[in-house]
Amino acid sequence: MALKITAECTCCDACLLECPNEAIRAGEKIYVIDPGLCTECVGFSRTMKCAEVCPVQCCVPDGNVVESREALLEKARRLHPDQDFSGDVPSHF
Ligand code: SF4
Repeated sequence: MALKITAECTCCDACLLECPNEAIRAGEKIYVIDPGLCTECVGFSRTMKCAEVCPVQCCVPDGNVVESREALLEKARRLHPDQDFSGDVPSHF
């Protein structure tokens, strides 16, 4: 499931630099995560980086966008065709 950003967001920028998929952008009032780009950091990290660095804990799982580890890994492969995701890739699963 992709993450989403809640209204507590202060647009501090902490998450922007951490996302391996450039899934986070400034919205009208707060930052937003594109679920089409978020892999829950599968393929890159054992933690969800935006949630890890957010000082107000506003990056949370979006229960409306549920995806399996394999689907998220496939998304990572699509987004980064030049990167090797074979073997024991980092994942929070
Ligand atoms: Fe980006 Fe990872 Fe946060 Fe998804 S969970 S928006 S991939 S930093």
